[in-house]
Order: sequence, then C-alpha cells, then structure tokens
Amino acid sequence: MPDRAELWHGCLVSYDVLFEPVAIGPVVARNRFFQVPHCNGMGYRDPSAEAAMRGVKAEGGWAVVCTEETEIDPSSDLTPSIELRLWDDRDVPAVARIAERIHEHGALAGIELVHNGLHAANLMSRIAPMGPSALPVVGSNHPVQARAMTLADIASLREMHRAAVRRALTAGYDLIYVYAAHGYGMLEHFLSPQHNHRSGAYGGTLINRARLLREVLSDTRELCDGKAAVACRLGVGGGADETALSAAETREVVHELRDLPDLWDFVAGPWSLDSNTSRFGPEGEQEAAVRGLKSLTSKPVVGVGRFTSPDAMVRQIRTGIMDFIGAARPSIADPFLPAKIRDGRLDEIRECIGCNICVSGDHTQSPIRCTQNPSMGEEWRRGWHPERLRPKDSDAHVLVVGAGPAGLEAAMSLGRRGYRVTLTERSRALGGRVRQEAVLPGLAAWIRVVDHRETILAKLPTVDVYFESAMTADDVLEHDFTHVAVATGSRWRADGVGRAHPLGLPIDLAAQVLTPEDLFSGLRPRGPRVVVYDDDHYYLAAVLAELLALEGFTVELVTPAASVSEWTANTMELAKIRRRVIEAGITVHTSRSALSLAADALHTACVFTGTQRSHPTDTVVLVTARLPVDDLAHSLLARQPHWSHLRSVRAIGDAFAPSTIAAAIWSGRDYAETLDAMPTPFRREITSLESRSPGAASDRSRQPGGRPR
Ligand code: ADP
Ligand code: SF4
Repeated sequence: MPDRAELWHGCLVSYDVLFEPVAIGPVVARNRFFQVPHCNGMGYRDPSAEAAMRGVKAEGGWAVVCTEETEIDPSSDLTPSIELRLWDDRDVPAVARIAERIHEHGALAGIELVHNGLHAANLMSRIAPMGPSALPVVGSNHPVQARAMTLADIASLREMHRAAVRRALTAGYDLIYVYAAHGYGMLEHFLSPQHNHRSGAYGGTLINRARLLREVLSDTRELCDGKAAVACRLGVGGGADETALSAAETREVVHELRDLPDLWDFVAGPWSLDSNTSRFGPEGEQEAAVRGLKSLTSKPVVGVGRFTSPDAMVRQIRTGIMDFIGAARPSIADPFLPAKIRDGRLDEIRECIGCNICVSGDHTQSPIRCTQNPSMGEEWRRGWHPERLRPKDSDAHVLVVGAGPAGLEAAMSLGRRGYRVTLTERSRALGGRVRQEAVLPGLAAWIRVVDHRETILAKLPTVDVYFESAMTADDVLEHDFTHVAVATGSRWRADGVGRAHPLGLPIDLAAQVLTPEDLFSGLRPRGPRVVVYDDDHYYLAAVLAELLALEGFTVELVTPAASVSEWTANTMELAKIRRRVIEAGITVHTSRSALSLAADALHTACVFTGTQRSHPTDTVVLVTARLPVDDLAHSLLARQPHWSHLRSVRAIGDAFAPSTIAAAIWSGRDYAETLDAMPTPFRREITSLESRSPGAASDRSRQPGGRPR
C-alpha cells in the first residue's frame, strides 16, 4: 500500500487530466467531474433539503451539479412522483435556492427542463396528457391515454419550454438541459418511431421526427444568448437495449444537430439500464453505446458508467469516449469523490455498491437515501455531512457490540467525532450480514460497504477492534464503558412468521427447513429438490434460489406476491430478476401462499381462489421475516441497578428493527450523531398557504345569507 505522499504524487501524474477546466459554451467547468441530473424524492416538496444536498456535492468538488427533471408545465405533471417544478413564476424561488447552494461552492448549476409528454398522466392537474400520437401513457399503467398534439399544441409546447428557460435563467442556472432520454420526455417521444405515428412536418422521416428537438434546442440557445450553456440529453441506441433510436439513427441525429447544443449528455437506454445495478451490469457498461458519438460533434460530451475508479475515468477521457465523467450514483455515495481524487485520498472513496436503494427514494416518493452514504438526503433535514461530524461532547467510552453495517458505521462515526470506542465482534471478520451476502451471485460489489469502513476505522486512533469477542452482559459490566450500542443484528425465522402468516406455519417435525443463515453457514438441502418460499419480497430469496440452482439443485420459487422479488420494482430490478430466475431454470409460482410444510412437500393455496396444491420437495428454504438479536440489550437493561460507569444501552440496526443494509448504516450514523445530544426532530418544509381566494367557502360564509361554519 503506498503511503499518502506517494499517492499524492501518483495523483499528480495520473489524474491531472480529470482536473482540467473545460468550456461548455459560454461557461467554464472547473474540472471534468459532472453530476448529471438525478431524481431524489425531494424535489418540489423538500426544496431546501435538495438545495443542501446539491450544495454538498459542489463542496465535494463536482464542477457541474444538476437538478433532476424539472416539469415545465402542469400538462407535464408526474404526480405521484416528486420532481422539481417550474410551472410558473411562483416556483422560481425554490429552484433558485438550489442554484444558490451550488454556486456557493464554485460549481456550475445545471437544470434539466422537461415536458413529460406521454409519460405524464397529469393526475394532479387533470389536464388530458398529450403526445405526438394518441397513445396510452408510458412508464405506468394508469388508465389514461394521451391525445395527439395539433400544430397549435406544438407551438404552445415550444412557448412553455421558452417560458421555463426564462424562469431557469432568472433562477440563476448556468446550464439548461433539453431532455430527450430515458423514454420519459416529449422530445424523445417525437423522435421515437414507436410513439410518433404522425405524418407531416413532425412525423415520418427521422429529420421530421427530430424537428421538435431541433426547434426547442434553437429556442433555448436563443434565450440563453451567451448567459448560460445549452445541454442536450439524448437517449442513444446501440447499447444493451434499443431505445427510441437505433445506433444508426442516433448517429444521424447527433450529426444533424451536432453543434446546436453546447454539450451532449448521452444516455444508454431506459433509466433501468442507464442506472443498472451491480448485480446485472459492470462499471462502464454504457461504453459500447456511447463510443464514437463524440467524433460527430465539436462539443463536449458527458456520459455515465457508475464510475468510482479514477483509472477507469482517465481511460474514458484519454480514449476520447467522453470529456466529462458523468455520475449520479457515485456522487450520491460519495459527494467528495472529486476532492478525494484531487487530494490523493483514493482509499477514502466511498464507492457506490450499485444497489439502487437511492432510486427507491424516487419510486416511493420519499427523500433519497443511500446504502453507502447515510448523510444523503439528511444534509438539511438533520444537518449531517458526508465528511464532517461535530467533535465529541464528552469523554465517554463507547462499546459497540457487533461489526455488521450498523456497528461498523456507529464505531466509525463515533471515532470520527473523537470518542474512545471499543468495537467487539463475535466472528473473525468485519461485516456481519454484508460479508455473508456479498459472496452470493451478483452481490460482490456490496463488500465495499465493509471495505470502506474497515479502511477508515484503521486510521482512527481512538477506536479499538476486537475479533472473536462475543460479549455477554457480565463482560460488559466488568469494564468502564459509558455507553453501549448493541448492534448484534437479526436472524431469519424458521417458523414461517411473516407478512402472509403473522402466526407462522404448521411445520411437520420431519420437514427440513433451512433459513438464509443456515445456507450461509454451509448447510444444504438433504436431497435434490428444494422450494424457496419468499414472503420477504426483496432480493434475498431470488438470490438464494439462484445460488442453489447454480449448485445443481432443482429449485422452485414460491411467493404469495404477484411477482418474484416484488419490492425490487423500486430498484428497477424486477424484470431483470425474473429473467435471471427463468434462465437459471427455476420454476416460479407466484400468488401462492404457504399452508403447511409436510416432511416431503410444501402445501400452498392460490391467494385468489384458495385452490390448493402440493410442491413435492426435500427441503424448504424460508425467507419470511427476521427476529432482532437483542438479548444482550435486554439483559443489560434488566441489570440497570448494577450499573456503575454505564449510562445508556441502545440496540441499533437490525438488533433494534430488522431492515435494509441502508437502514442499518443509517441507524449506526444516527446513534453516533445523537450521542450526548438533546433529541431534536428532523427539519421539514411546511407548505405555505395561499391567501384566501374570493370564492373560498370561508369567505362565502361571511357573505349575507351565507351560513356560518
Ligand atoms: P446489522 O445489519 O444491524 O449491522 P448484522 O447482522 O449485519 O447486523 O451484524 C451483527 C454482527 O454482530 C455480526 O457480525 C455478529 O457476528 C455480531 N454479534 C452478534 N452477537 C454478538 C455478541 N454478543 N458479541 C459480539 N458480536 C456479536
Ligand atoms: Fe450506490 Fe446504492 Fe448508494 Fe445508490 S444507494 S448511490 S446504488 S450505494
């Protein structure tokens, strides 16, 4: 391992190219690190929280920091998703606040303007959606169809976009996006032969289908007039999936419009492929789709690839694939990625693990969260920072029991605050459930959760780590600890208790039931046939089914849900998981709820009709629910009268309430942030009330004859 000075030297030699300034039309980016637009589940509802989140990225060294898609008009209403809005002038202050926070740290502020076209069901505004052709809305199953736009509609769409550009300029943005990617925007719907069935000036040939994009780019350029740059975000064909355009059509469009925008942002495929998870695609996966497009334009190009390796970034620049290293998730996992590369602190980079928990925030309309970076989305709400914690408030000595994600994060964050910390772990390795799960098919990148914390812990002088140290209450009370965080995790239930069976399942004593932990410890089905029963609905059951199929077992996957791994719709993995399960030769039974486990079969019933059937099997793997392992916390609390040094005991992470790895890490951080502090509620933005309109009921009630309310 080179020391810091060598790394710094290496950085100067190797990574200089990443820190060259690059002009984007009339503005100059201070380096090549470019946070491309990304959704965050905060948007118009939580603008101050979003502003702080974007500001921290600017502070971390990104040269360009962009907003997510910003709806330009109520006819582009993506409800229930929470994005930004520039529907009218009243939206400007919130959007301006984001630009201000970005500018405070010397970055350029970009805004992604969008009319969602066929993608907007307009559930809030109740305006009939519109698109190039009369088609059902896309990206959802809302029973809503769009109407075909007239030429007057097209003219009014251009005016909407122009009005939004004016507002974006008023709000202080340096880079205005014209959006035609991910299958989401009107401009891409016009480009698409699948969605554009028109004849006439805006349909038919590629040149005609690209006419609206050309016009909107020209309108935007005219309004920006040297005050701001214009970016074109284009969905490109030729990657893992053909989107609106084939590879050949993509080249033609880029050639035709080559110098109209000041920057090209190329997006390979729909969002689910553009933000593919590490389970289904490697770093730099988009290269094949983007390679060669830069040669068609004299303007700079940005693209993404879940880049966290500076070597891979340099290669992208040196081989002429792109000019900017675009990133959404790597900037979420580590807002200080550029600063760490600049300063030669490569070992401190908190690498994205490619799990898409961040994406789930957008899909569940909740503020963004990140497995690796627990401060993501909490910058304003709780005042957390990805790199800084406030110094300790006392000389307390803190014991953290268990080195899974919760314990690791708690010990690391307490150590960064300067507390004396003892971290004890029963096994011989750090990581808890993450270490166990990262060896499963497709989950190798998840070990980064452990690697990062292990690296930082090794540098913290006040933290001591002890392995093979299972702690009992007696052990704890023998020492001088002031506070104890019990991070001893959880264990999967073997009784079938879960969502579908709150009281558990009848299980024959002769049945072989295995839990995920049994499989982790090396136990295997006693015969060739195994049923994996999924009442958890996240990733684990399907991953274990895949593991067993790879090992040669005949696997059935049974779930009461309508889909395998149903919750992964929120991480955009649902279809990919189903494909992988089918390809692995696993037989799938959805919408079947377990009734009982016999010695040689699982009995199930259809959740709709109750029709019963048996699934002959040697073994059933139950992935249903977990029990917190919190006995240490309970026994310490029961002995409170015998405490001498001890002041508090708290279960954290899965030992408190089993959840995702992201939640365990957040819980560890929360423990460290709130130790020795008065509890305070998180901040939230309160909607301001409109002044009363003349027709409001309360006004009517004061009119003569009006009934008092
Ligand atoms: P979480 O997700 O909450 O971090 P995990 O299950 O991943 O929980 O990790 C819990 C860790 O605690 C595991 O590494 C386990 O070996 C360790 N552990 C459990 N009980 C004890 C104990 N009594 N003393 C020390 N370590 C323990
Ligand atoms: Fe990466 Fe997962 Fe964090 Fe998203 S949530 S940025 S995919 S580590």
